Amino acid sequence: MNTDAVSQWIARFGLWPLIVVLIPHLMFFSYGQAMGKKRRASLYQAIVIFLITILAAFIVEYGLRDIHFYAGLAVVLLASAVFRKKLFPYRLNCADCERGLNIKAIYFIDGNLCVDCRVKRDAGSLGDGGSKPKV
Ligand SMILES: [Zn+2]
Repeated sequence: MNTDAVSQWIARFGLWPLIVVLIPHLMFFSYGQAMGKKRRASLYQAIVIFLITILAAFIVEYGLRDIHFYAGLAVVLLASAVFRKKLFPYRLNCADCERGLNIKAIYFIDGNLCVDCRVKRDAGSLGDGGSKPKV
């Protein structure tokens, strides 16, 4: 039985997983600088994917076994778990009113607020000096 089957399978894809993950990152340019956190998160996700594919390519190149790949994968996943708030800053519901968010608000817009709460927050920051109740 082939002992590096998983590494070979992942290495076979080359850089395509990285390219697929970077496409949404490029879409952030159309939303401007206001989406800092989630834009950075998409970059961190791309780094994780890149590390996993490089690891698999390294294992295949040097004739190591899948057990070495799993050890490296565990390190990458452990680091991802430690930095999970930076990697996945997404929420499915509004941070203020718990209403469901649309895909654009979930993936692209920082703050995790629905349209109504975002309008309320922006109005508060412009007008009455932020009278929004603290949650
Ligand atoms: Zn809301």
